Amino acid sequence: MSLEDGVQRLTLPLPTGPRHVHCYLVNGTLFDTGLGLGDAPWGVVAVERIAITHFHPDHVGGAAAAAAATGAQVFQGGLDYAQCERVWGSDDWPERMAAWFRKHGAPTEVADELIEQGHAFAPFVKYALDPDLLYEGSTLAGWQVVELPGHADGQLGFLRDGVLIAGDHLLRPISPAVGLYPDSRPDPLGDYLASLERTIELAPRVVYPGHGEPIKDPAGRARELIEHHRRRLADTVSALDHRRLTPFEISLRLFGDELPPPQRRFAVAETLSHLERLVREGNAARSEADGTVTYTEP
Ligand SMILES: [Zn+2]
Repeated sequence: MSLEDGVQRLTLPLPTGPRHVHCYLVNGTLFDTGLGLGDAPWGVVAVERIAITHFHPDHVGGAAAAAAATGAQVFQGGLDYAQCERVWGSDDWPERMAAWFRKHGAPTEVADELIEQGHAFAPFVKYALDPDLLYEGSTLAGWQVVELPGHADGQLGFLRDGVLIAGDHLLRPISPAVGLYPDSRPDPLGDYLASLERTIELAPRVVYPGHGEPIKDPAGRARELIEHHRRRLADTVSALDHRRLTPFEISLRLFGDELPPPQRRFAVAETLSHLERLVREGNAARSEADGTVTYTEP
């Protein structure tokens, strides 16, 4: 589908979540590659290079197939590729995730389901090995590379002539997930709020997101998301107690107890990113005893 700014959009299906993911093709540069399930249309489009916005499966999972079909070189963020290898290139990631959720109070059955699902899912994610690495200040085919950590630690944006291709950094109507995970930067929500401020400063005219329609008022959307997280931080303060609660217990207070396991895990990770921001703002206290992490009022 042809959009403005010479941007072609290729939309691929997803089995869960928003049910679709967008890849963009601009002057021979393909941004993101979908999950990699089924037949992707790469054989019929002229792709000279492939740029990955972040390592989440619906963006990077089709990278190896796209590179093979087009012969194009793949470019990915330096930190993002390190995390991509750690998650999709290792055998024990599901076990490490399960241990991480147990440490934050998740019952064994919630944590253990991760292991089975993780091992079933990982083989479908085929990222490209040995990409050329990009960093803040790199340029690629006239695009300025901007690091926008938060939704993913290594989330990249690509900026040119007022157009920002931003993966899942800015979405509408859904609010990008910002969770704390093992082996990740310690304050992802702090990172994300700074990246939203940075977006306002960069003042792109339009953002092409990984899900949903082009965002024509990026600064306005960034301000809405800052407000959204300010409210969530206030809600999280209200959910704290003088008594020690695990992040899992706090997530029940914030998100209710009806969520199926996958959404529960997002809820715990999201609760944790807010708790860690509150600790840094002096509005929550963290402690760890007997291998379990808890938070209280400060
Ligand atoms: Zn993502």
